[in-house]
Amino acid sequence: PGEMRIAKRLARAGIASRRDAEGMIADGRVKVNGKVLESPALTVTARDRIEIDGSPLPAIERTRLWLFHKPAGLVTTNRDPEGRPTVFDRLPEDMPRVLSVGRLDINTEGLLLLTNDGGLARTLELPATGWLRRYRVRAHGSVKQEQLDELKNGIAIDGVFYGAVEAALEREQGTNVWLSVGLREGKNREVKRILGHLGLEVNRLIRVSFGPFQLADLEEGAVREIKGRTLRDQL
Ligand code: URA
Repeated sequence: PGEMRIAKRLARAGIASRRDAEGMIADGRVKVNGKVLESPALTVTARDRIEIDGSPLPAIERTRLWLFHKPAGLVTTNRDPEGRPTVFDRLPEDMPRVLSVGRLDINTEGLLLLTNDGGLARTLELPATGWLRRYRVRAHGSVKQEQLDELKNGIAIDGVFYGAVEAALEREQGTNVWLSVGLREGKNREVKRILGHLGLEVNRLIRVSFGPFQLADLEEGAVREIKGRTLRDQL
């Protein structure tokens, strides 16, 4: 208990990603108990004295969680090889370094959870956590509720099995339909692939909830921290 790999410890202090932390170690910028660290394989505890560039490492931050209303047009990655704007470019300047819980596609809007705790981010995005993700979807084409009901049993598409999906036809709008879709895993392009399989082409995708957290009235581009009691009760 209390022991962790040095790169993880640096990441938990919020100063770098785990990968960047390994780079800092390789560059000889990290000292443990007065000695320059030569390998990232070391395990440290709270008793070890860690310095970066000669300054003591800040204490591990408590777990924090934010809701973000992602606008369309942002990629959910730290560094986009194509240089497109990212979610992380659009966060308020006073936010600490955070990770997203899973990803939303560039054109997907709505609720994205952000946290400073990498372990929490990974836990929440696991299918085993089983949190319901609910989407409002506009798609080109038409569909019968009976076809949507069949998705409750899960579906295999191109060798990938997608678990149970609850989908309800809400209304028709010209050549589009609006649907409410709920699923408990977050596979790549899951909603688009499943609806595509029914001949529907998704042209607007808005995540309205993730587990106990709702998008509700959070404005586009805004963040809201989940604090205290609410955070403890939900995690
Ligand atoms: N399903 C998708 O197809 N895309 C998303 O961004 C989220 C769920």
